Amino acid sequence: MSAPAVAWHGSLGVVCPRCRGDLAARADAFDCGRCRVHYPVVLGIADFRLEADPWIGLEDDREKARRLEQRSRGASLEAMVRTYWSMTPGTPAEQASRFVHHVMNAGARSREWVERLDPPNGRPSGAWLDVGTGTGDLACAVAEHGVRAVGIDVAMRWLVVARRRAEIEGAHVDFICCNAEHLPFADRTFARVVSVGTLEHCRDAEQALAEAKRVLVPRGDVKLRTVNRFTMLAEPHVGVWGVGFVPRRLADRYVRWRGGQGYAHHRPLSSRELRRGMRRAGFTAVHVEPASLLAPERARLGTAQWAGRAYERVRRLPLMSAMLRASAPLLEAHGVAA
Ligand SMILES: [Zn+2]
Repeated sequence: MSAPAVAWHGSLGVVCPRCRGDLAARADAFDCGRCRVHYPVVLGIADFRLEADPWIGLEDDREKARRLEQRSRGASLEAMVRTYWSMTPGTPAEQASRFVHHVMNAGARSREWVERLDPPNGRPSGAWLDVGTGTGDLACAVAEHGVRAVGIDVAMRWLVVARRRAEIEGAHVDFICCNAEHLPFADRTFARVVSVGTLEHCRDAEQALAEAKRVLVPRGDVKLRTVNRFTMLAEPHVGVWGVGFVPRRLADRYVRWRGGQGYAHHRPLSSRELRRGMRRAGFTAVHVEPASLLAPERARLGTAQWAGRAYERVRRLPLMSAMLRASAPLLEAHGVAA
């Protein structure tokens, strides 16, 4: 018999994301006997996706991950991300370079965010789950604090980049490919769920929140940061103003009309929707507030640093905070699993 695909999966209690039953681990796959489903391990990363991400099919994504890995052997993180965009036709050069910049700044931003999270005083200790890990910056920042970190993402092609970041930084992080709406973990696996910039891309944000709640231990908590549907600024992914005020079914057409590249795969929530979704998922002590600015966001303000300082002051005033919550560019949410 061959060795199990990835030995640690067993110790975390991975289960079939469809029926939540036990899986049989083989050298190159996990099998669910009950569902008769076979979850492949690609480039050493287990693929538990039930649905493809909206941009690319499952097999095309795996193939892109393989090509990227092959073309970036021994490359730096930046070179690897540049290679990624060179393999992605249809992205204007200027936009690709902004994406590269974003990935390279993400480490500092995530470290600052993790530093600011309240210490786990009195909270359960244990592994943290990063939902929508992307290029792994947040999961690596968590691991730096000596916490066991697991990063999941729907894109295998980004997980090979995330793993490269972890290797370069010497961070021990486990990466798994899966849907936020269908986590391959047993109930009560994690002490904390963190997520930055992911909820707005979920097919079903409420289902993703319900899954986050399910995998948390009692008194474990979720901390997340997401785009506000009703942001007072241009929508950050497409650079178009006022998208949130257009009915959702028309948003894609509106963004294309305003010169953007479409909006079918973005569904940011308003602060009210986010709070309601967290409560429906079963979280208690739910707080939704205007997000604090992090270093790269402050840097983007350029000469308008005063605006950033004013925002931070207003954010701390209870009454103003309530007003700002409606229109702040980014929201932070917190909830406790009962
Ligand atoms: Zn199953």
